[in-house]
Amino acid sequence: MNIPVKTMHAAEVAERASRAREAQGVWTRYSLTQRVRAIRGFWDALQRERGRLAALIHEETGKPMAEVEFMELDAAALILKHLTRNAHRVLQEQAVPLPWLMLNKRAYVRYVPRGVVALITPWNMPFLIPFCDMVPALLAGNAVILKPSEWTTRVALYLEDRARASGFFPEGLVQVVVGDGEAGAEVLKHADMVLFTGSTATGRKVAAAAGERLIPCVLELGGKHAMILAKDAPLERAAKAAVWGRFANSGQLCVGVEVCLVHEAVYADFCARLEVELAALRPGPAGEPEQDLGGLILAAQLDVVERHLEDAREKGARVVGGEVDRANAAVTPAVVFEAKPEMLVMREETFGPVLAVMAVRRVEEALVIANAGRHGLAASVWSRDLERAAEWASLLEAGLVSVNDVLIHYAACALPFGGMKDSGVGRRHGDQGLRMFCEEQSIVVHEWPSQLPDPWWFPYGRLKTRILSWLAWLT
Ligand code: NDP
Repeated sequence: MNIPVKTMHAAEVAERASRAREAQGVWTRYSLTQRVRAIRGFWDALQRERGRLAALIHEETGKPMAEVEFMELDAAALILKHLTRNAHRVLQEQAVPLPWLMLNKRAYVRYVPRGVVALITPWNMPFLIPFCDMVPALLAGNAVILKPSEWTTRVALYLEDRARASGFFPEGLVQVVVGDGEAGAEVLKHADMVLFTGSTATGRKVAAAAGERLIPCVLELGGKHAMILAKDAPLERAAKAAVWGRFANSGQLCVGVEVCLVHEAVYADFCARLEVELAALRPGPAGEPEQDLGGLILAAQLDVVERHLEDAREKGARVVGGEVDRANAAVTPAVVFEAKPEMLVMREETFGPVLAVMAVRRVEEALVIANAGRHGLAASVWSRDLERAAEWASLLEAGLVSVNDVLIHYAACALPFGGMKDSGVGRRHGDQGLRMFCEEQSIVVHEWPSQLPDPWWFPYGRLKTRILSWLAWLT
């Protein structure tokens, strides 16, 4: 079980921030090509120690090695490749057209690093999230202060140590601040931008602190993925997807499937398939190569899981699994059948290995239920009729929507990733996921004839005004 670290003092946070700022002054003078080379070099150095890194993530989280490999490390490789291949296209100066009236001028946008970027991260993906946010921030020319969850600091400290030892970056460019929420709040006093990943409740506090200092703030918050099954849904794939989409990472995924809303015509068949898939899951002792499920990363999450299961039982649901082992902070994967909208499992993020399943009369009813909550991160629609599925998908109030698929958006990193409503503000990934780490500087150059004043300057006159209006209308 992870033990929280001691919170750094305000003075130490300030000192780290000032070291990061100094290093950024050097880093910003590296060309983009040099930055790309440095980041690739750093990744190669990490790859040479992949076994050590994988073991550390596994130790810190207890997740199966297969998940460490493909969800944390291989996904990071995909994202790193995408970012380094596209950095020049996205971050180079972009010429922009001007109205015809300004044909004597040229305009372009420059992408200027913001300075020191704070990355505040949760405990569920201790490598993937910090690393994949750090790479674009660095590529854009910033320094990074990473504040990981106090429950998973070892991977972050390892990253900081390897960044320093790699010799690819100016000394101090990547700083880790350890401690609880107070340390996170302290970091916000020094940063020029914050990218926060965590719960909606903390996201509000971070947004308020960022607002106070008028620094840009991107929020990646909680979710409540509703999986909607039409009566022509491909049931076998859907049942496997629901089980993987819910129990991967032991349910501790913001995009994880939390609820299945199933057309009543196929509800019984789908539930029977779910039970088969559930029984086939292999929770195992940590580290077993054939293990499907690890335990909970954070023991406190058990309280939420228990509360949601008790509430569901009290309100008449049939719960399969969900045996809680307090001593080992573990719970067996649970499915709540015959769920109802008023149950906690249907309304609040569980963020643990509990899947709620409810029958609906029509897909439209499922859409209403899915859109009723405050979260809007991920959702999916399941049907063999792809045209209708796309139509339903367009009605979902979620930032990440899939048809006949789950948990795919993060690695499909050319797509913007983020949530609507209480699930976030802004997007990581996609082109804007790189550009957001820059100030956009708009430049206009008056090119010719350089010594003459522009016609809209003083002195004004009736005829001049008419001609200008006419030219503006023509433009
Ligand atoms: P929390 O909101 O509890 O914490 C997130 C981070 O914020 C931690 O590092 C935490 O530190 C820090 N923090 C706490 N209080 C403050 C504060 N006042 N100011 C600044 N920082 C603060 O989230 P969890 O760690 O519990 O993560 C789980 C949540 O994250 C779930 O809701 C999940 O859905 C969401 N999430 C969202 C993702 C997305 O991309 N949308 C991806 C992954 C998770 P400490 O932990 O030390 O208290």
